[in-house]
Amino acid sequence: MRRSTLFLPVLLLGLAFTLVSSNPQSDPRLKKASRAAERNGWIQVHLEGTPGVIGFQHGYLLAAEIKDNFNAISTEMKHDEKKDWSFFRKTAEEVLWPHIEQEYREELRGIAEGLKARDVKLDLWDVVALNAWLELPYYDKWLERKNAPKTTPPGSGGVADHCSAFVATGSYTKDGRVVIGHNNWTTYSSGERWNIIFDIVPAKGYRILMDGAPGLIHSADDFGVNSAGIIITETTISGFSGFDPDGVAEFVRARKAMQYSASIDDFARIMQEGNNGGYANNWLVADRKNNEIADLELGLKNVTLQRSKDGFFVGSNFPINPKMIKEETDFDVNDRGRSENARHVRWLDLMAENKGKIDVAAGQKFLADHFDSFEGKVNPSERTLDGHIEFSSRGMGTWQAPYAPAGAVQNKVTDAAGAEKMSLTAALGHACGTNFKAAEHLKKHPEFAWFQPILKDMDGRGWTRFTAR
Ligand SMILES: [Zn+2]
Repeated sequence: MRRSTLFLPVLLLGLAFTLVSSNPQSDPRLKKASRAAERNGWIQVHLEGTPGVIGFQHGYLLAAEIKDNFNAISTEMKHDEKKDWSFFRKTAEEVLWPHIEQEYREELRGIAEGLKARDVKLDLWDVVALNAWLELPYYDKWLERKNAPKTTPPGSGGVADHCSAFVATGSYTKDGRVVIGHNNWTTYSSGERWNIIFDIVPAKGYRILMDGAPGLIHSADDFGVNSAGIIITETTISGFSGFDPDGVAEFVRARKAMQYSASIDDFARIMQEGNNGGYANNWLVADRKNNEIADLELGLKNVTLQRSKDGFFVGSNFPINPKMIKEETDFDVNDRGRSENARHVRWLDLMAENKGKIDVAAGQKFLADHFDSFEGKVNPSERTLDGHIEFSSRGMGTWQAPYAPAGAVQNKVTDAAGAEKMSLTAALGHACGTNFKAAEHLKKHPEFAWFQPILKDMDGRGWTRFTAR
């Protein structure tokens, strides 16, 4: 009796100690991190520390979202590339990892550790492959051409076309300073999960505020502001093919550029160092310190940098440099009915009509635009800046079949004053406010039934302001 009364408190104390010591929430690596309550569907996280610590915080705080995002993305990759997941893991380990520098290796390892602490069964190679999901198809296509050059000619495409974007400055904007905006185009199943606002304070480099998807160290659709005054976005180059397996993964260069650029020159240099051609983009960049903007068309063999202190650049996946078009794409610049060309025309009209009036509110309106410049009327489809492929009997090139549940999935706009405060506005779903209903759409278009396990409703949520805190 006496013995058991003494034994019980000792046992309880021992048990309590075990619980605390094995509870990762008390992990000192989490001390500076936080996760805010969801706002209009967005989750803002604050990550701070050394690369390994930032990664652990990321994996731990977003474990459930990473698991869900991984399920959606890996389902799509296996379906689109017709490969087992082991192919992507192997590529991540053998092709990409050898060229990833230590800082980002540690961050990626940290994510895997954070996931482990939350009992999510994904390892380092799953995390690396997930980070590279937008560029692995470029590798896959390159490999196919290498193995069977006759059946897969250059520019046989298949890689995705993403996004509409603009950047303006000088006499084009209301206050003469820079304004920049972007909407992300992807399948609705992956876009619904692109709902993280990352506020990152790395031990080295500049503070970052960017949108992103769970588990990715880069923004991936690419919209972000850093504390050195650089604002970055992009749209992909349509019909591009090319890959260098000895280069540095695009996701590493994109994250590095966001973290270490204090000028347009820095940005262009970092993106070109070890360029592997993966996820080849037309980058739009702004420097809020001197009101300069730039357009970096980053092919693998051909790179073109344009810059301006009074003007605009727009992006809708159309390539620019004729030499690059010829050597690295299968793009038809003369097909006016193509989404990329029709949106290009609409952008030029909007920039001219709004000269001297462009601000954040105008940018938000551009991203909700439903005017089809080819037909000359309002009709949302793959040809409009707010992309609605789900309404299109044409689909979108080799990327999406007719009526595919794909198009614009989320939107961001900011200006120099906002960027100075490390702040941006963002809206999930279509900027026009149209709601997408998954079950209804799949019933009408049963050819997309394979999306069913991962496709959710995507409502237009309206604009919200996010600021680093
Ligand atoms: Zn719309």
